[in-house]
Amino acid sequence: MGSRREILGIGAGMAAAGLTPGFASRAFAAEGRNGRKIGYAVVGLGYYATRQIMPNFAGCEHSRLVALVSGTPAKLEQYGAQYGIPKTHRYSYAQFDSLRDNPDIDAVYIILPNSLHAEYSIRAAQAGKHVLCEKPMATSVAECQAMIAACSKAGKKLMIGYRSRFEPYNRLAIELARGGHVGPTRLITAEHGFPIQPGQWRLDKPLSGGGSMMDIGIYSLNAARYLTGEEPLEVSAVESTDRSDPRFATVEDRISFVLRFPSGIQANCISSYSSAHNGYRVIGTQGWIGMEPATPYAGQTMTIRKDGVTAPRTLPPPTRNQFAAQLDHLSECVQSGATPIVSGEEGLADMRVIEAIYRSAAERRHIGLTA
Ligand code: NAD
Repeated sequence: MGSRREILGIGAGMAAAGLTPGFASRAFAAEGRNGRKIGYAVVGLGYYATRQIMPNFAGCEHSRLVALVSGTPAKLEQYGAQYGIPKTHRYSYAQFDSLRDNPDIDAVYIILPNSLHAEYSIRAAQAGKHVLCEKPMATSVAECQAMIAACSKAGKKLMIGYRSRFEPYNRLAIELARGGHVGPTRLITAEHGFPIQPGQWRLDKPLSGGGSMMDIGIYSLNAARYLTGEEPLEVSAVESTDRSDPRFATVEDRISFVLRFPSGIQANCISSYSSAHNGYRVIGTQGWIGMEPATPYAGQTMTIRKDGVTAPRTLPPPTRNQFAAQLDHLSECVQSGATPIVSGEEGLADMRVIEAIYRSAAERRHIGLTA
């Protein structure tokens, strides 16, 4: 994980936001602009939950951390004390369904290994809670559909943790790309990878559902979809995995995939667990919009080449970083009744393409994606 953390800029997001933990007792009493803040239970107290998500409730306007779920009593004790979460709001997995009886909990944020996303999202909806679930949404199209159906039946929101959609440079890239700033987009290149350390659930297919594609390649895929605003018609993929490397006994290392979109845009994408890259480029008829790095926790860098001139593009620091903005987006949707911009349908759309990518690589042929 060390390398992944370096590549994604671990810790920088919290520092950039000027955030420190230990705020929860204040947050518990606070009220959002539109009334009561939306209360979240965080499920799974691993790296992403404890280093990136929980500290960033401090920067939220509409969201507060009110409950924790973990299988490790020492973590419940440690983080419960750190964030001022009372013992009545600390749960084991065996107690998960009793979240239903806690009116302080409006939403449940699932930050577990991928193969547990569907089960806990569905149980959260059945407990009457809104659901924020980490990417990848699940490990199959069928699971994604079951999650959407469960949230719909319960009348609850379902949002997927695509934090880049709340990051200012990515938002600008979408606006510029779709607005034809460098002419109509013709080609997108997107690359995401890091050299994975052995001995973690990401390398265990029953828990991860797949290798680099599920974990990091999904950023290339999601970017290609959000930069075009289109759904691919066809995919072709080539996998390259050294099966003698013990890290890759059950999951893939590298996948290169090409997406063909209805407007004629082509996206050439890379997903890798053995090389370090994080970037994309939108290439139009008059130049290109480059983002490198594109999707880390902080430090996005944009360069634009237009009509023969290459220049950096900088934005003022945001008032809320991408983590706080993501949390507040779901809270505002809960308060207003709106649908999240990264709903379950968005997670499902990625998963449909991921299944097609795996099929294309396995069958060595193009796979059509028409509905
Ligand atoms: P992690 O290994 O650090 O944390 C996973 C947590 O799940 C651990 O606390 C572990 O104890 C718990 N857990 C519960 N049941 C488990 C089981 N049966 N087996 C293994 N662990 C179990 O992983 P992480 O890096 O925090 O990733 C968690 C999720 O968050 C993944 O879906 C990952 O894709 C996602 N994630 C998203 C981002 C992002 O930028 N959006 C970044 C990192 C991770």
